[in-house]
Amino acid sequence: MNSETKNCQNCKQGFVIEPEDFGMYKQLDLPAPVLCPYCRWKYLLAFWLFGRFRITASALSGKRIITVLPENVPFPIYEREEFVSDAWDPLTYGRPYDPSRPFIDQLCELQAAVPHPHQGGVKNVNCDWCDDWWESRECYLSRSGYRNEYLSYAYRVTNSKNSIDITYCFDMERSYDCLYCFKGYNLKYSFNCRDCIDSSFLYDCRNSSNCFMSWNLRNKQYCILNVQYTKEEYFEKLKTFDLKSYVAVDKLKKEFWEHLRADAVHRATYNVQVINSSGNFLVEDKNCTSCVFMEKSENSRYCIRGFEAKDCIDQVSCIAEKCGWGALDQWGYENICNLYATHCRFTAYLDNCEECEYCFGCVGLRKKKYCILNVQYSKEEYEELLLKIKSDMKKSGEWGKFFPLSAAYAGYNDSLAQIMFPMKKEEVLAFGAKWQEISEPHYDNVIGADTLPDAIDEVGDEITKQRILCPETNLSYNIAQRDLAFYREHGIPLPRRHFDWRTVNRYWPLTQMMMPQRGTCTYCKKETEHYYGPELKFQKIACVECYQKEIA
Ligand SMILES: [Zn+2]
Ligand SMILES: [Zn+2]
Repeated sequence: MNSETKNCQNCKQGFVIEPEDFGMYKQLDLPAPVLCPYCRWKYLLAFWLFGRFRITASALSGKRIITVLPENVPFPIYEREEFVSDAWDPLTYGRPYDPSRPFIDQLCELQAAVPHPHQGGVKNVNCDWCDDWWESRECYLSRSGYRNEYLSYAYRVTNSKNSIDITYCFDMERSYDCLYCFKGYNLKYSFNCRDCIDSSFLYDCRNSSNCFMSWNLRNKQYCILNVQYTKEEYFEKLKTFDLKSYVAVDKLKKEFWEHLRADAVHRATYNVQVINSSGNFLVEDKNCTSCVFMEKSENSRYCIRGFEAKDCIDQVSCIAEKCGWGALDQWGYENICNLYATHCRFTAYLDNCEECEYCFGCVGLRKKKYCILNVQYSKEEYEELLLKIKSDMKKSGEWGKFFPLSAAYAGYNDSLAQIMFPMKKEEVLAFGAKWQEISEPHYDNVIGADTLPDAIDEVGDEITKQRILCPETNLSYNIAQRDLAFYREHGIPLPRRHFDWRTVNRYWPLTQMMMPQRGTCTYCKKETEHYYGPELKFQKIACVECYQKEIA
């Protein structure tokens, strides 16, 4: 089969469907896409809830729950433990297929009726204010994490402890305000570092300790602005930076970014040990094309955030094999058009199902087989009805269309799509997605963030009883006692923005590193494909060969 150029139905840009794409779509019985790869990502990411934490009550028991699902979801919200219990039966919501109406309409009506769990994640201890949070304890206002302890305001973090404000970090301890760092200890205000300790404002450093405001260091100690000092000189010089002052740290953050733009050398991709693959943030991948944030995966295309994915196409958050056009299909096998499915096989059009096989168009099911629209059938009945629905859908052009954007749990602006592909309200509505209006809460006794003391030493204990108003978001936040103890111990000034704003802003550089760009290697001057979007304004980008030679 030849490649084919099409115009994206959304952005109107031309995009190419490669023969390999056609092959995979054919295998999965999916039609060729009508959206370009980036609009496909936007579409699927709009279903990936980010949301805002709020307190509500389980519709089943009335128990107090904390959820990121918005107030205006059509379905009842159950506490997760209750959702997976026998206290209710999702099959009671079942309805027969009506051939005179579009199938997806019927599926959406079912979706709006069946209860959904208040959050993702299990095996946590004291992590109520978290979402998509697993096997962790004592964490607070964090999302998307696995095996963590004592974290606050963390996003996409694994195996870390005693840290605050870390995003996309792994194996971190006692760290603060870091992005894409691995195995850091007492690391602050740093980005893209590995094995660094007792340091601040580092970029692309490896195995370095007691360094400050430096970049591209390897196995160094006592460096400031990439200048080597003796131990005594280093600590003497370090005293001249007032790290306890908000104003001083804010200035240092700006200075740090000026160095990233003008002085730091940036490796063309962040990929490690990849074979025959394209994309960025790939680790130990083989034959992956146009993927980002994928690890130990193979033969997959246009996927975002995957682990051990195999033969997958158009997936966001994907730990799956032979799955296509889906969002949050975890441990899936041969599925299409699934949304939040876990351990499901040979299924399509599921929402929030677990351990199901041979199910089609179902919502909230667990451990079921041969169900359609939450009705239990025999194997033979199931196969016959499935053929009929499939043929109806193919005739009407419905087959292979994902859940409509109106079926996302929250607005585009409360999803990961807004973080990775931000759009204004008008653009979101034109895209067909929802916009979540932020109800402006009214607070009594709220103080403006700009009235906070500049230095952490000036902060009294009473601050923990105070709500603070973020000037960027108009949302209030507080300083938990635990946070205050951490800030004092580490000499960190109080944050002056809402925690979600901090996470989204910290994440921002990574969102600018997902699409291929062309540029010139700063060393060999050869034309080089890299992943640094123009907004980053990075001036020194090196091809991988030169980077390995010059920086290692
Ligand atoms: Zn497009
Ligand atoms: Zn080069």
